[in-house]
Amino acid sequence: MANSKEPTDPSTWETATKLIRGGINRSMFGETAEALYLTQGFVYDTAEQADARFAGDEPGFVYSRYANPTCRMFEERLALLEGAETCRSAASGMAAVAMAVQGLVKAGDHMIAGRALFGSCRWIAASWLPRFGVETSFVPGFDIAAWRNAVRPNTKLLFIETPANPLLEMTDIAAVCALAKEIGAKVVVDNVFATPIFQKPLELGADIVVYSATKHIDGGGRVLGGALLGKADLIEEAYRDPFRHLGPALSPFNAWVLLKGMETLDLRVRRQSETAAMLADEMGGHKKVQRIFYPTHADFPHADIVKKQMTGGSNIIAFDVGSARAAFNVLNALELVDISNNLGDAKSMATHPWTTTHRSTPEEERLAIGLTDGCVRLSVGLEGAEDLKRDILSALDRA
Ligand SMILES: *Cc1c(COP(=O)(O)O)cnc(C)c1O
Repeated sequence: MANSKEPTDPSTWETATKLIRGGINRSMFGETAEALYLTQGFVYDTAEQADARFAGDEPGFVYSRYANPTCRMFEERLALLEGAETCRSAASGMAAVAMAVQGLVKAGDHMIAGRALFGSCRWIAASWLPRFGVETSFVPGFDIAAWRNAVRPNTKLLFIETPANPLLEMTDIAAVCALAKEIGAKVVVDNVFATPIFQKPLELGADIVVYSATKHIDGGGRVLGGALLGKADLIEEAYRDPFRHLGPALSPFNAWVLLKGMETLDLRVRRQSETAAMLADEMGGHKKVQRIFYPTHADFPHADIVKKQMTGGSNIIAFDVGSARAAFNVLNALELVDISNNLGDAKSMATHPWTTTHRSTPEEERLAIGLTDGCVRLSVGLEGAEDLKRDILSALDRA
């Protein structure tokens, strides 16, 4: 519509420009801010027009479970940022993950997934998919030989989360994608921890990238949202009907909040990661910290993979203080940083994965990924770096 002032090809814009200008579709009123189309449905001038819309002969909206103009602006902005042909928005990160996986497997298929996964992603693979005849093998994500050894004749999907929750375990995306090509399987990457700013899975060969927009994309801890992105023909074939008929649609209100969140995504994530890198160095030298996990920190175990595929370290730090009691003491001694399991927020937050986010993961699997009861996960926010340093170091001193 009234979009005529935008310069030539948006895909050539800088990231910051894409985040501010991408996907804007102004109404006849020429509003400055993105419009919130809080509507379930749409009206037609004539019965013939309704007929043509439903037949797909005329472009236009028919029902917000299928598509909505505010959600569309969000999808186009995120697609532009990611360098993807198409984006489908979803009600939450988990709705996006569930759709991403279910659209690519059927009964009798086999999936391989990195063993370090967000709890709900793990539940889909371990407990939900078997009900529909899909089996999953879990492998150490960083070990490409383990991915190869897990391949079966019916392997159709490889699922990666990298850096993984909560210890930032890394998987070499390009290597797993090369294996997938060899065996004719698809690759889905959960890119939440890296954010679209620091890692581009589609450029590394992935078929689908998924986000929980609830995290850094909102950035203010307000709404739930999610998205999956990839090539237009794959999204059309694998996801068009499931998205229409299973109903995981993103609320237009949430899409509107997320559009505003995206305007500052690049600024926020870069500032948070700068602070996180500084804090990781400071905390790594503290006598109560036995191990520290941060992608660009000197001691990080998968630094070679980080170098290959990430352009920044993210805002998440994990560290081990030796016991659950010590971890609780650190959390309780924090004055500025909140105790919360959310991440990517402007507010810094710390959680004890053993008793919160990873509670439902079997104990031997937590230990297999190196997650002990002394680990704390910290999501670095936008407060002053010196204030955060003082708060965290003094909590460690007193714990
Ligand atoms: C939070 C998160 C999800 C789920 O997102 P929701 O928006 O909470 O549904 C999936 N994967 C990762 C890595 C996450 O951190």
